[in-house]
Amino acid sequence: MTSSQCIHDDACPVESSGVIVAWLCPDCDTQLGADFGKELQRRRDDAAFRAACTHTDVYDVTTHGDTRGRGVCTRCGQDMRETPAGGWEPT
Ligand SMILES: [Zn+2]
Ligand SMILES: [Zn+2]
Repeated sequence: MTSSQCIHDDACPVESSGVIVAWLCPDCDTQLGADFGKELQRRRDDAAFRAACTHTDVYDVTTHGDTRGRGVCTRCGQDMRETPAGGWEPT
């Protein structure tokens, strides 16, 4: 893995006197600012939100030339594709 492709999803907090002062990615050894914690939390919240979403409100974004229907869940933004049965499934 090269550092340019790492998204630091496994970054660990670096604490000083109980305060997170930085984050360190064990995969690529990059040190990240204290604000990275917010970014990481946001990503995990998004992932949890998507995992809990049943994608029942799909907005059809199929364009001419698509072999299968494409859509986007209006609640969580998950990309969806049409199933052979006419329903939607996450891509
Ligand atoms: Zn990294
Ligand atoms: Zn959804």
